[in-house]
Amino acid sequence: MKELKGIGASKGVSIGKAFILKDLNLTIPVEPLGDLETEMSRFHEAINQSTIDLEKIEAHVEKEMGSEHAKIFKAHLLVLKDPELIKAVESNMKENNMNAANALNEAANKFITLFESMDNAYMKERAADIHDVSKRVLSYILEEPLVTTSDITEEVILIGHDLLPSDTAQLNKDFVKGIVTDIGGRTSHSAIMSRSMGIPANVGTSTATKDIQPESTVILDGETGVVIVEPDEEQLAFYQNKLDEEQKKEKELKKLVGQESSSKDGRQVELAANIGSPKDLENIIENDAEGIGLFRTEFLYMDREQLPSEEEQFESYKEVLSTMQNKPVVIRTLDVGGDKDLPYLDLPDELNPFLGFRAIRLCLEKEDIFRTQLRALLRASTHGNLKIMFPMVATLEEYRSAKQLLEEEKVKLIEEGYQVSETIEIGIMVEIPSTAILADQFAKEVDFFSIGTNDLIQYTLAADRMNETVSHLYQPYHPAVLRLIKQVIDAAHAENKWVGMCGEMAGDEIAVPILLGLGLDEFSMSASSILEARKQIRSLSFEDTANISSKVLSMSTNEEVERFIKQKFIH
Ligand code: PEP
Ligand code: MG
Repeated sequence: MKELKGIGASKGVSIGKAFILKDLNLTIPVEPLGDLETEMSRFHEAINQSTIDLEKIEAHVEKEMGSEHAKIFKAHLLVLKDPELIKAVESNMKENNMNAANALNEAANKFITLFESMDNAYMKERAADIHDVSKRVLSYILEEPLVTTSDITEEVILIGHDLLPSDTAQLNKDFVKGIVTDIGGRTSHSAIMSRSMGIPANVGTSTATKDIQPESTVILDGETGVVIVEPDEEQLAFYQNKLDEEQKKEKELKKLVGQESSSKDGRQVELAANIGSPKDLENIIENDAEGIGLFRTEFLYMDREQLPSEEEQFESYKEVLSTMQNKPVVIRTLDVGGDKDLPYLDLPDELNPFLGFRAIRLCLEKEDIFRTQLRALLRASTHGNLKIMFPMVATLEEYRSAKQLLEEEKVKLIEEGYQVSETIEIGIMVEIPSTAILADQFAKEVDFFSIGTNDLIQYTLAADRMNETVSHLYQPYHPAVLRLIKQVIDAAHAENKWVGMCGEMAGDEIAVPILLGLGLDEFSMSASSILEARKQIRSLSFEDTANISSKVLSMSTNEEVERFIKQKFIH
């Protein structure tokens, strides 16, 4: 038995066999060609095997996730058949005396360098395809099996150094029962992804991929961060019991699907979901989200080698909007920088990245990137109920500039013959104290606010949300944070605007009664928290929570508020 401690990133207990997702580290042999015929057939056999693999993956992804997601594998299959690439590999063997692996590696790299140097997003995407496909073919030539999440066909707990969006694209929720990673924190994207898929996960264990052997029995508790490898009988029984309890509770919660999210005395709120990609839609529909309160579009830009094109973005936004069938969908414009890097943008290193060149600051500086996203959003707007939201707004001038660019792109698109919805609401995230304090002024110009407490807390208490050493200062119920939230809600309501919250706090059972009492209109959270929040709200009286909220605002510490609310509302 071995116990590892990670950070609980997605609630739930899971027990299963380990499946280790290892990074493939191929060493290309440089010895000259031996027998031409043998190497030639080795190359072609590897192409055949890869074709079989990719056809299987494509069919699987098409069935599970739809044709949009399967497109990438169609493109990969085309690379395998590409006569130019095949000719280049064959001539490397025949004329340059290279062995099959070296010949392929050399030819693929040549194409990758050539395509990447082109000022054309489509060709840059082809470079990424060649990179992925050649890795698969090389793994067959070198007889080093390539392990990917698409190879998982039985129930497992997935163990990986980190989990990239490209890994999750092929991941089947029916088989992956839990996720454990070496690196990451609660707001790292593997954590956010696992929450939005509703898969229990622990991140940041440091050594999981070293300490856990394939096939060993693993227990993970996504609430406490505990990972147990080869548990004893007693531990197995304890966690099996916890798992059974959870499943019972989940079954009960499912009865709330289709019910109203309103308090005992009739105060109705909207319970919306946070998503990172169209892939999360299935889970939020299962959990009966009444809208999307935050689509973190930055995930569309991550784990790739170039910016997503306007067309690609348009397809994703359209898919989300049309699937939600006129329910409100808040799409946030690009929020990179801080802890979310895009290596291909080559941004300078900063001493304080959370206070630096990120989100709307970056978009207003790199206008071409921003305009492309705005065009994709505007074009998608006719497919549903779109609301556009700008992140990390610190000043009114930033909001006005962003809105100005949006208006300009709208005019251009209409001139080009596109249709654009006339009813798009434009709002901002309130995650910087200056904006919360000046909310009365912002409220005159925006259509809505969404309070981003993940950042608002860190900026109010000056406690880095990623820094374990100061995590005791990261206090969601600190009366200073609560007063800012109240100020934002009151300011919006004075101008007849609505206010949501899309930070983690919106789904926190201690915060929910306070937020309801303060008059929050929309609560946006991980899909897996929605039904629990609905249950809680239905058990509360708005009048009681309003009284309680005014009490906690005059308290002096986080601890005092937490104790009070627990005693009043949590049994
Ligand atoms: C927030 O800051 O509360 C938020 C929702 O944004 P992110 O977690 O993506 O910074
Ligand atoms: Mg934020």
